[in-house]
Amino acid sequence: MQFIKITLAKGKERSLIHRHPWVFSGAIAKKEQEPEEGAIVEVFSNTGEYLATGHYHSGSIAVRCFDFEHTRADRDFWIKKITAACALRFTNGVLDQATTNCFRLVHGEGDGLPGLIIDFYKGTAVLQAHTSGIYKVRDHIVAGLQAFFGDKLLAVYDKSSESLGKQQQGETQNGFLYKKNEDHPEGCVVEENSKRFYVSWTEGQKTGFFLDQRENRALLERYAAGRKVLNTFSYSGGFSIYALAGGAQLVHSVDSSAKAEAWALRNVKENDTTVPHSFFCQDTFDFFKSSQEQYDLIVLDPPAFAKRLSALKQACGGYQRLNEVAFRKIAPGGILFTFSCSQVIDRKLFRQLVFAAASTAGRKVRILHQLTQGPDHPINLYHPEGEYLKGLVLQVD
Ligand code: SAH
Repeated sequence: MQFIKITLAKGKERSLIHRHPWVFSGAIAKKEQEPEEGAIVEVFSNTGEYLATGHYHSGSIAVRCFDFEHTRADRDFWIKKITAACALRFTNGVLDQATTNCFRLVHGEGDGLPGLIIDFYKGTAVLQAHTSGIYKVRDHIVAGLQAFFGDKLLAVYDKSSESLGKQQQGETQNGFLYKKNEDHPEGCVVEENSKRFYVSWTEGQKTGFFLDQRENRALLERYAAGRKVLNTFSYSGGFSIYALAGGAQLVHSVDSSAKAEAWALRNVKENDTTVPHSFFCQDTFDFFKSSQEQYDLIVLDPPAFAKRLSALKQACGGYQRLNEVAFRKIAPGGILFTFSCSQVIDRKLFRQLVFAAASTAGRKVRILHQLTQGPDHPINLYHPEGEYLKGLVLQVD
């Protein structure tokens, strides 16, 4: 198979030699011919050396490279890639399979598969393609999952209509790519560190659950005993369930989504507890304005305030305001778990925003932990943008 050849401008090969998987459109000097959206292309340096193979798209990231050696990128190639990603989760001991049956199986660039996310919920794999290039090879991806899991694969659900770019969204529909049994359900109860969560792949946000916070939720359990806990942007109650298990005095969950409320209440029931729990279906900023309670453990886990660089300034303001209201609200000696999942806000900038918020609120603050995503969301060392989740655990005096 001949792939279209793309030649870079002089000096633009450096990042690819360092295995950074993105080629920006401005780095391209010449295209043999105009590739179709999602076509496989080969990238060459200005002096004619082969550098990498990847998917071509219009937009500022023109090529997302999935290999740095000549490849035919055929069915076998994709099967090998998928099975290698699955093996990382299942064979190196990094995840405790005895207490957890939901993981991220494929994490985009972190697995050398830019544009692909696959989460696994007790036998059901939920796929989100972020590029049409990856979407085109979805049958090979399913074959890779079948090769790895065999009979244990119950279904593959495609949720790409929400993750693909606007142009392709209309052309795709969410639905099963594979079902072992005709009556495969739309959700199931999974276990994470022995806690039970209902996950709906059809109606849930993203693939259904925010698996990246697993380790951070477990850490919160250790801090919860005897504390009044406020979990904002709670979604289906992830951090709340761990706080209940950790023996909190009370737990309040806040999320503006009615579905999140229904799932959170269901999850509280799934995990026997005698600790009082209340859900507030409300905007977090409004909740902070109206609540009279003083909490001694607060979680701030908002959605990405900035998805693009252009929204950066506004997002910075959002993070700062949010952290400031939490610093004003939290009891002396309280613990704040604060997060940002915006890729364009790096660790240093996030810390500066939290610093500004603490200093405006006039609180004395110490950093106890610096957090990131779990090990099933690996970060390609050559692609630092993959480190999207940043968290701080703070002692607020
Ligand atoms: N911490 C969660 C994941 C949070 S995802 C977990 O561990 O599973 C972000 C959540 O914020 C979503 O559920 C979304 O519904 C909610 N949300 C977005 N904007 C909000 C707002 N202004 N006020 C309250 N909740 C909001």
